[in-house]
Amino acid sequence: MVDSEVLSGQLHANGINVGHESSKLDYNIVVVNTCGFIDKAKEESVNTILDQVALKQDGKLDKVYVTGCLSERYRNDLMNEIPEVDAWFGTMELPLMLKQFNADFKKELLGERLLSTPKHYAYLKISEGCNRTCSFCAIPLMRGGHVSKTIEELVSEATKLVAMGVKEIMLIAQELTYYGLDIYKKRALADLLKYLSDVEGLHWIRLHYAYPSKFPLDVLDVMRERPNICNYLDMPLQHISNDMLLAMKRQMDKQEIYDLIAAIRDKVPGICLRSTLIAGFPGEKREHVEELKSFLEEVRLDRVGIFTYSHEENTSAHELIDDVPADEKEARAQEIMEVQQEISLEKNQDKLGKVFKVIVDKKEAGRYLARTEFDSVEVDNEVIITSKKALKAGEFYNVKITKAFDYDLEGEVVE
Ligand code: SF4
Repeated sequence: MVDSEVLSGQLHANGINVGHESSKLDYNIVVVNTCGFIDKAKEESVNTILDQVALKQDGKLDKVYVTGCLSERYRNDLMNEIPEVDAWFGTMELPLMLKQFNADFKKELLGERLLSTPKHYAYLKISEGCNRTCSFCAIPLMRGGHVSKTIEELVSEATKLVAMGVKEIMLIAQELTYYGLDIYKKRALADLLKYLSDVEGLHWIRLHYAYPSKFPLDVLDVMRERPNICNYLDMPLQHISNDMLLAMKRQMDKQEIYDLIAAIRDKVPGICLRSTLIAGFPGEKREHVEELKSFLEEVRLDRVGIFTYSHEENTSAHELIDDVPADEKEARAQEIMEVQQEISLEKNQDKLGKVFKVIVDKKEAGRYLARTEFDSVEVDNEVIITSKKALKAGEFYNVKITKAFDYDLEGEVVE
């Protein structure tokens, strides 16, 4: 999304009329920005390309260009398989793509984007690429090694976003906690957070994709001290069994994960911990699934997402035998999520009668959909508000929780 917004910003600055597909723009050229890290994402990308090619064949489009991770990873195969696409670009070929539009890459635009999110929130990509070698992961193949943006660049980008009306930024990267090691020779996420939290008008700063090994605990001191840094951490753990963690090359064992979670909760009491897991990695047995379920029951994470393992060529896990059948992977994912569902419901029930500050995202079917500081966009819970008084998207309100469901809450505005 951020890459598409950067491309749109560059095209716009070159005088080209550009918009996200959700906009009402009348268009004759389409750029499909693809994902390619797991099977489901690849399938969705290919289907989208085929849909656009069909429109071109019907005479409704003049050109179809494809960029992004799928194109970076499989360009040669795809060129042969879908010759109707006019040009393919990799993940680092923005200037080349602009040439296709007779447009120039404008360096001075650094950090300026045409946002496709609602006005009040935006993603801030603090680095690109990853130096880790997690055995299941194809991302470094497509995105290269870790390159951090400087603190100055990011503060300037955040300041521009605030000037455009953004109140909440979500920090993203392939690996957030590696930030700074390349350019400052030290982990500098805590420093970056201090500078960002000083940006006037930034109400919420949220951290996603924090790789757990060698997690810089000083980040949590800043989180505790600065009110505009959400007490929220998205930390992908992938698994808990030592067998699986080792095979996944996660550079961390079970005890270290338990210790880290305890340390995080000690430093920021009440922090909302989100994680993602993988079900059905090669060699995963019933006992590993049980171990993962017990872990969830014990540590009671606040939010959990789960992927089924995707056997990706050119990753080191590809040398293992993908021995868990697809339907078994799905069944395990569901079984694990059922454990979390119960935990999520209980945690939501604890919120009944309490008042939370929320930001309203939108109005849908006569109700307002909002989020607390403990909920990120799209992946987490929503607070559903029915209000006679009109509420504004992007505004903060205090809401008393009146109903709790598995994943969502209902509430009413209080003064
Ligand atoms: S840290 Fe994340 S992006 Fe990097 S290799 Fe591991 S899973 Fe992939």
